[in-house]
Amino acid sequence: MGLFLVCVGMIAVFSVYLSLLWFASVSSTSPAGEAARPKEKGLTAAELSRIGGAGDGGEVAGAECAVCLDDIEAGQAARVIPGCRHAFHRRCADQWLAAHPQCPLCRALLLPPPAE
Ligand SMILES: [Zn+2]
Ligand SMILES: [Zn+2]
Repeated sequence: MGLFLVCVGMIAVFSVYLSLLWFASVSSTSPAGEAARPKEKGLTAAELSRIGGAGDGGEVAGAECAVCLDDIEAGQAARVIPGCRHAFHRRCADQWLAAHPQCPLCRALLLPPPAE
């Protein structure tokens, strides 16, 4: 009976040791794999500031912002994507462009305008 108890104890200790090893290997590999994945680069704050807003509110008033699907009303801060001339709320455009370097509506790649 005593030998049986010793065997059970050793098996229990061994299985706990194995599960600790497994847990350590799993928790050490997953964050590294996540960090190695390349992320799509958006525009920096400096590049955003070089994109002009709407010259006057009347130019984009009535257009639908494709980010929030609301209309752009006269007097609201807006941004016009250079090239395709699509207009969005300034807040919506900045939020999107910070993560994606392209127009939210037609996906035209938004190259940084040449510095003056
Ligand atoms: Zn919007
Ligand atoms: Zn566009």
